Formats: sequence, C-alpha cells, structure tokens
Amino acid sequence: MLDKSKPNSAVNVPNDLDAFWMPFTANRAFKRAPKMIAGAKDMHYFTTDGRKIIDAAAGMWCSNAGHGRPQISAAIAAQAEALDFSPPFQFGQPKAFELASRIADLAPEGLDHVFFCNSGSEAADTALKIAMAWQQIRGQGGRTRFIGRERGYHGVGFGGTAVGGIGNNRKMFGTLLNGVDHLPATYDRDKQAFSKGEPEYGAHFADALEGLVNLHGANTIAAVIVEPMAGSTGVLPPPKGYLQKLREITRKHGILLIFDEVITGFGRLGHSFAAERYGVTPDMITFAKGVTNGAVPMGGVIASSEIHDAFMSGPDYAIELFHGYTYSAHPLACAAGLATLDLYRDEKLFENAKALEPVFADAVMSLKSEPNVVDIRTLGLTAGIDLAPMADGPGKRGFEAMNSAFHDHDLMLRIAGDTLALTPPLILNADQIGEIVDKVGRVIRAIA
Ligand code: PMP
Repeated sequence: MLDKSKPNSAVNVPNDLDAFWMPFTANRAFKRAPKMIAGAKDMHYFTTDGRKIIDAAAGMWCSNAGHGRPQISAAIAAQAEALDFSPPFQFGQPKAFELASRIADLAPEGLDHVFFCNSGSEAADTALKIAMAWQQIRGQGGRTRFIGRERGYHGVGFGGTAVGGIGNNRKMFGTLLNGVDHLPATYDRDKQAFSKGEPEYGAHFADALEGLVNLHGANTIAAVIVEPMAGSTGVLPPPKGYLQKLREITRKHGILLIFDEVITGFGRLGHSFAAERYGVTPDMITFAKGVTNGAVPMGGVIASSEIHDAFMSGPDYAIELFHGYTYSAHPLACAAGLATLDLYRDEKLFENAKALEPVFADAVMSLKSEPNVVDIRTLGLTAGIDLAPMADGPGKRGFEAMNSAFHDHDLMLRIAGDTLALTPPLILNADQIGEIVDKVGRVIRAIA
C-alpha cells in the first residue's frame, strides 16, 4: 500500500481497466490516461505514481473536514467491531437516534425529524415521495405535480432525474416522472457576470412559479424542489431575495418547499445549511456527502414536525410510511456521521469557511483576466469559473482543464461542462487558497 509519509511511494495500477464501467465518465479517455488515486490525507490526494495532488474539490463536495481523518476511521472501525449491521425496519440502534438528533439540532427550527438513506439521489426521491404522501394524508391527494428548475441537479433516481433540469441526464430515459415542470435557471450572464456572493439581479426568476400555479392550479402541485445554490451545473448562487420569494409563493399556495442541500449542507456556505444563511426555512432539507465527510455513503431528509406528525397516527402495528432502505441509518454511516459532526464542531470548520469566504472570493476573482475566462461566481467556499467553449465542442475545454490540472499541475478540480468548480475542504487556509488559485491560473494558460 501507499506510504503516505513518503510522497513518492507508488502503487501499481491494475492491469485490467476494462471491467469497471465508470459512472459519469468518458471511459475511453480515462482508460488511455488514467487519473488514478491511491490515497488521501487532509488537503491532498496521492496518485498511484506517487504524486501529491491538492484537492480543490473536497473529493466531490463531500470531504469537508479533509481526508484521512483518524477520528472518523477509528469510529468506523470500532462500529464495525461492535455492531456491523442491524435491521433498520422495526428495530433500532442507538447511533441512528443520536445522529438524527444532532442533525436536527443543526437544522432550522421546526425541522426536527430525519429520515436516513444512502445518497443524495435517494434523499431527493425520498423527499418527493414524502411530499406526495403528506399531501394525500391531509386530503390533498390531487397534488401530485412537482416543480424543479432548469440546471437543477437532484441525483439520478427517476424522481431526481425528472425534477432535475439537465438535458443530457434526462433525454435517454423516456417519460421519467409525469407531471413535472421546471422554473427557469436563476442565471443571466449579462446582468450577473463576475458577482461575488448573491447577485443583485434575478429575484424575479421566482415569479415563474406563479405562472406554473396559474397554468396547473395550486391544488395539483405537491412540492417545489431547488438547490439553494445550484452546484453541479456550475455554481449558480441564488439572486438576492429569490429563495425568500419562493418561500412566500409556496406557502401561499399550500405547496411544499424542498431545499436540496446535498452540497450546501454542512458548512459549504459558512453555515450548517444554506437555509440558515438565507433565513429561509423550507419544509424539507435533503442532505448527503458532508454528513459523513464522504467516508461512508449516507443521505437523508430532514422534515418539519408538521409533515412528520401527520403520519404518526393509526394502530400500533401499522407502518406509517411505506418507504425505506436496507441500509437506512447504517451503523457504520452513523458512526462516521457522529465523528464527522464532532470534527466540524471542535475544529469550527463552518466558521472557518465563513471567515475565509472573502479571501477566497478575492483570490478566485483575480483570475478574471486569464485567457478564455468569461465569468466567475463565488459563494461560501465555492467558485465557478466559466471558460469560453471551444468552437469544436462544448465541454472540451473544461475536460482538458481537468486533465491538465491532474496530470500536469498536481491539482484536483471538478468541471461542469466548461465551468471549473472549486469546492475545497473547509480545513484549508489562506496559503492553500493562494496555491490553488495559482495552479488554476496555470492550468487555464496551459490549455489556452
Ligand atoms: N443533489 C445534489 C444537489 C447533488 O449535488 C448531488 C450530487 N452531486 C445529488 C443530489 C446526488 O447525490 P448522490 O450522487 O450521492 O446520489
């Protein structure tokens, strides 16, 4: 195995790269020039050829406390010894209840109940199902429609794909969920370019919801689901007042509001949740990723007491919600989650993110005049850098940037088409911000 104390120790790359059909990957290109990772510690990855790579992506927006944290791995190992698995239907294990309370404590007031699953995709589908079931329970069974948003991402389940607003993710999968509409994306480059934080322009994009209510009738709509900040489609911060407007309109019409906080949860924007940053309390919040620092798969839905309590009736033997997963509240995930939340608290990582936000924003904005940069957006410890697409292929410049970063500049970054996304672990310091931004600048020049 890789010896992390020796940066140049290499690990063999397997001979057969063919059997693994990689998710969301240009498989053929990858297998010609593998970007292979063998280890990780704090702010860095280690490649199979022994290089040390700075992680500007927190893996995939998950490892907010950095990598290889012994407190988390020890908790997972101890839990595997003590209780590897127990059935989550009809039986419980203490850490599930403990973690649910800890998460509810971090969530806005009134969001007090946590339903566990294993990913952001499952969290989105779970929230949509709870929304529909709740509407039925309160006698509004005609409310079966959902409203998502263009450029929204809610994972890859049929529900999440349907409410998501990414053409490529949808177009091979038939009718998906029926009765889904999309709000417009909140981005207008002409009016928002190079804004730090929430753009001044764009709250009116929420008014399109009134249009959809007029079109279908409020009594057909179960819920609206949005990411407070769209992440996977290139970092689109919410315009000032936009989320507040969505809250007002949904409340007025008896429509539930779901925030998908799979990437904004657990400190990314300097707060436990984006809901807290914006002072807007939705009816449900979905989470995943940061809850276990990425160390064990886990996701979940935090629901309001109003929703939860509506289900809690009937005879004792009656199951209240016909939904759940074998691995809901898996003991290893719960142990990892509790250790992760301890780290976030003890190391004040959300506060660190908040304190560094202006430093990060200024540093990233300094890339404004690099070749092909057409816009930069920053929010919390997140930035999206739009590069002009190449004439012969949208997405090609972003792809080349990601590969050049990894192979030639010892930098891990994420891309969304031709947008470079920076979402570093929240443990980083000002020097590492400088190093990341310097490397990004070099990458952009190298591929120009
Ligand atoms: N929702 C959002 C906002 C996400 O960013 C993601 C993943 N990037 C998901 C849902 C899906 O999560 P998962 O990949 O864990 O299913």
